[in-house]
Amino acid sequence: MNPLVFHPGTAEPMDRPATRLTRSALATEREDRAGCVSLSYSRRTGALRGVYRAADQDLDTDSGKWATICEDHGTICQHGSQAAARATDTDDFCDECRERQDNAPKPAERITAANAAIDAMHARNGWTR
Ligand SMILES: [Zn+2]
Repeated sequence: MNPLVFHPGTAEPMDRPATRLTRSALATEREDRAGCVSLSYSRRTGALRGVYRAADQDLDTDSGKWATICEDHGTICQHGSQAAARATDTDDFCDECRERQDNAPKPAERITAANAAIDAMHARNGWTR
């Protein structure tokens, strides 16, 4: 298997910076989108999340004047206030984001796996702790 290629000086695989927009690129992108007041990556899911004036996105405003959109999966959740739209993360309404969360290893599982790898390395080399 081809190992991940790391960008010199960072811990990020090279394909990550290429696909993830920089702060200034995000700002430019936000200005280009009709009714977009916020565009950022979700800390919880990593998905690109936009907050929009629903009317400017040609959405039916009967469902709410504001919309939170998961840009990664194209799912939309509408709200009555901008504050509510901003407070909504993608895993609150996007099934694919939730699925991605469910499939991600939990912190405890990651620690158990890391400890097992360390134990195996010690056993292989005859090291004692
Ligand atoms: Zn999503």
